[in-house]
Amino acid sequence: MAVQSGLRPGKLPVVRGFAIQIRPSEWEELRVAGIVARARIKVDFSSTHRRFVLCAEESGGATANLGHYCGFLPLAGDPTFFVRPVTLAMPNTVHADVSAASLISVEMLRYGTTYTLNIFLHWLTTAAGPDALPAHHQKLLFSAHRGVLSEPLWQEGKKAQAGVHIPAFHRRTGDPLLIPSALHEAVGAITDAVCCVGCRKSHFLALKAITLSEELSAPGVHPPSARATVPQIASAEFPSQAGKSKKRRERRKEKQQLARQAPDTAPPSDTRAGVSVVSGLQEAKP
Ligand SMILES: [Zn+2]
Repeated sequence: MAVQSGLRPGKLPVVRGFAIQIRPSEWEELRVAGIVARARIKVDFSSTHRRFVLCAEESGGATANLGHYCGFLPLAGDPTFFVRPVTLAMPNTVHADVSAASLISVEMLRYGTTYTLNIFLHWLTTAAGPDALPAHHQKLLFSAHRGVLSEPLWQEGKKAQAGVHIPAFHRRTGDPLLIPSALHEAVGAITDAVCCVGCRKSHFLALKAITLSEELSAPGVHPPSARATVPQIASAEFPSQAGKSKKRRERRKEKQQLARQAPDTAPPSDTRAGVSVVSGLQEAKP
């Protein structure tokens, strides 16, 4: 859905619909603790790449009691990816600016030893006219709450190896909820981040860009070529995948069956269909 507004400064949309649902009392605790994790994405125009990109701030941190962090990673091979580290006076706030044609958002909230995790893929589709903004799309890659990690990573000396601890997520029936392997490194990093008391630097800068399997990715999500202004033929970029498609279709079918049996994996918001187009784009101040 294209947003009918021209390229006027100050009217660029901000996407917030993917954020973990946090109760007012929990927001108050985060505010008092001084933790600012910005689960939001702004759509902006890149003059260099002559296309719209997604811009976000990696941010967050922790106290001993709670942690909240939101990081963003590009898809492998995306030439529009830009990141710069940011250091602000206040800890537990912004650690990096990130922008790319597509982004994966990884958000985690921790109370004590209980963890909530949301991972989404975000991308844009081209607008119909030269003055229209493109549409933002998102797809849920993983969502689970009440994950458990008994290791108190927020204590001094508990982080000898970065990224090796990941909370265990289960359905209420005890069935394990498995995090896709392509996202393991990011989940390890964000687990550290929500245990990083007085966080002052990015936990995602050193991570690899993500390569999604066909079933995790979505139609229309292709890293733009280096010549981003030239429309590309979608299939030309992925010739090696044709032979594997049958096997993948079968795997996807199995996953869809599993997903239907696992209502707990649904996100807390209205994104239960998996892929959604944000309808309530909010306008940003310049
Ligand atoms: Zn940190």
